[in-house]
Amino acid sequence: MHSLLFIASEAIPFCKTGGLGDVAASLPAALAEQGYDVRVLLPGYPAALEKARSGVAFELCQLEVAGYPLKLIETVLPHSKVCHWLIDCPPLFGRPGNPYLDETGQPWSDNHRRFALLCRVGVELAMDRAGLQWRPGIVHCNDWQTGLVPALLSLENAPPASVFTLHNLAYQGIFSYQCFTDLQLPRQLFDPDGIEFHGQMSFIKGGLLLADRINTVSPSYANEIQTAEFGYGLDGLLRYRSEVLSGILNGIDTGVWDPATDPLLVKNYDRQTLPDKRVNKAALRQQYGLNASGDHPLLGFVGRLVEQKGIDLLLAAIPELVAAGAQFIILGSGEKQLEQRLSRLAQQYPGDVAVVAGYDEILSHRIEAGADIFVMPSRFEPCGLNQMYSLRYGTVPVVHRCGGLADTVVDCNPATLDDGSANGFSFDHPDVGGILYATHRAIECYRHRDTWQQLQRRGMSQDWSWQRSALAYQQLYQHALVLSERNREHP
Ligand code: ADP
Repeated sequence: MHSLLFIASEAIPFCKTGGLGDVAASLPAALAEQGYDVRVLLPGYPAALEKARSGVAFELCQLEVAGYPLKLIETVLPHSKVCHWLIDCPPLFGRPGNPYLDETGQPWSDNHRRFALLCRVGVELAMDRAGLQWRPGIVHCNDWQTGLVPALLSLENAPPASVFTLHNLAYQGIFSYQCFTDLQLPRQLFDPDGIEFHGQMSFIKGGLLLADRINTVSPSYANEIQTAEFGYGLDGLLRYRSEVLSGILNGIDTGVWDPATDPLLVKNYDRQTLPDKRVNKAALRQQYGLNASGDHPLLGFVGRLVEQKGIDLLLAAIPELVAAGAQFIILGSGEKQLEQRLSRLAQQYPGDVAVVAGYDEILSHRIEAGADIFVMPSRFEPCGLNQMYSLRYGTVPVVHRCGGLADTVVDCNPATLDDGSANGFSFDHPDVGGILYATHRAIECYRHRDTWQQLQRRGMSQDWSWQRSALAYQQLYQHALVLSERNREHP
């Protein structure tokens, strides 16, 4: 049986701020179903430890790593084959709130220490130095918070194969040289062939340069990040590593996201009972004070309120779309100025625009079910999950054609309607004109019930499950093992 150590900074149900939290839960679970012996290593944030202790959890071992005494807490969730290990280290992880940001929205000032500890514990476990008599064949790291793992493993004798998955290149974990010295990392790592990046320390570079195999979360994003436009200064490095770089589209948890069984919906429905979807729309309109008279298409948005998501572009497009008969329900949290601009818009268009600031799992499901159209004008989108949830819920997506959005949404036009592949609407330029161009077409199509239902049914019949992606990860791991063996023979 293959043994896998999966390291991430978040995973539901312990902690989630974005798509990584979904992936770090679903992928290990799918691999465990396919026969892998999987352990997931996570920081022990207070809410995560509380979640673990609400089930069966015990202290697996005590360690001292980089001067920090810590406990490793093991838990296996009900109905799960995945074993979770949480690092209980109160000085670094024992603080409430966002795992990455303090109360003012700034990164925690000791993030370099916090995530270096996650990495160092990962290395101790990978090298079987924690006395657990367990050694993984593969270590799978995710995003910058785990980037030091491949870097540190590259200095070990006969390390396991390492894989680094990039979920978003915009977040790189760049810290000053002082932080590097503060961490007392091996001196040789501060080198252009290591984690040095323009005189600073880059966590992500450790993963991208030194993992045996790297990938990202959609084939299109894997290509885009090799260009100057999307490469955030790392496109050269990514082109250099292009032979070991690929894209695997994320899946979605089809157990959680299924309109036929989702317990969070007002009314369940499937392809056969599609008209019942309307009950969810009516409930949303009523609860959030949207005018219930007339058949207005309801447009939904759920996501982090950051520049990446193109919410500023949507803000500018909303007045014209409301004039065309659209209503909006928007759920998000993030940059304060975007939250404020959104709530001003809601005040300006009462009855047509509803805005909910915050993180709300239940409402996110209800928007997926109750909206007619889901808008994702992201400037870039490594994979994106909401468009896949939307497709499964018969909520037609309107997206900027980039990254994972390009790989999942097929624009509706006469040719794609004819061959049956159309499932949404897309636009090429991330600007207000682009959004208006695609959304007006969607609103027009909404008024042609047969065509609209064709789009809805197409999306609902597509397979976005993790099984497909997990098989692709298995092949990736095999390749990583071959490369690691080769590196060992010819260092
Ligand atoms: P990203 O990782 O860039 O945030 P993804 O589309 O990959 O974007 O994943 C975002 C995930 O987080 C989705 O599951 C989405 O529904 C969820 N999400 C984002 N913001 C909120 C929110 N305010 N309330 C509830 N769920 C949210």
